[in-house]
Amino acid sequence: MRSHLRYVGLGVLGLTVAACAVSPTGRRQLALVSEDSAIVASQEAYAMQIGELRSAGKIVAESSNVSRRVDAITERLVAQAVALRPETADWQWSVEVIDEPEVVNAWCMAGGRMAIYTGLIEKLDPTDDELAQVMAHEISHALANHTAERMSVAIATHAGIALAGVLSDDAQQTMSTAALAAALAIQMPNSRTAESEADEIGIELAAKAGYNPNAAISLWQKMASVSGGGPPQFLSTHPSPANRQQRLAELAPLMMAFYEQARRSPPTR
Ligand SMILES: [Zn+2]
Repeated sequence: MRSHLRYVGLGVLGLTVAACAVSPTGRRQLALVSEDSAIVASQEAYAMQIGELRSAGKIVAESSNVSRRVDAITERLVAQAVALRPETADWQWSVEVIDEPEVVNAWCMAGGRMAIYTGLIEKLDPTDDELAQVMAHEISHALANHTAERMSVAIATHAGIALAGVLSDDAQQTMSTAALAAALAIQMPNSRTAESEADEIGIELAAKAGYNPNAAISLWQKMASVSGGGPPQFLSTHPSPANRQQRLAELAPLMMAFYEQARRSPPTR
């Protein structure tokens, strides 16, 4: 595990250095990595990670009920993501279901590559509305350029982080520095501010896609209730401040108009 650390350290200069970016909610982000670099790096990290999982037989078949359900939900969310940020129409949006019954997690990388683990679906038993909140929240992290933000943190603080269990040592040797940072980024906790942004954008995307905003509240309650045997990975990458429920409870009524509008005239798919 030592080798990739050296590798990361040597390659940092090869990354595109960006100045200050502004997130969709107007917050200024200090980014060592531009969004375009994050997208390219995420693409590489994704191909490597999903390739390994596929070889291990851990990608659920596209034709299965669970994949079809996740596809149908994310398709509606992606349409709203593109409406919010039209340039993301060029992203390579896709979602895989990873067969890991003990892993309660989901993510979306810069560039629109998403995954959800069977553990989240089996342990939380989410309604479609709740599942939509999970994916909308993850999509919002990508839309708000949080991948680049976390990659920057990964690069700045990688010495204390291990890639254990994410990728094989062989894969790590062949990956670019930026891709390693991207692989690390989805394993790292988001800042509390990034969480608030993703909550805010996610509940709106989901409402506009026709998913009940109240499900954002019940989802986090379920998430907390499965943390009996240690916190689910989703919570370790998503700090859950005590006031989150309260904020979502304030946001949900404000989103009802979007939700009702979407229910009256379902968005085109
Ligand atoms: Zn989050």
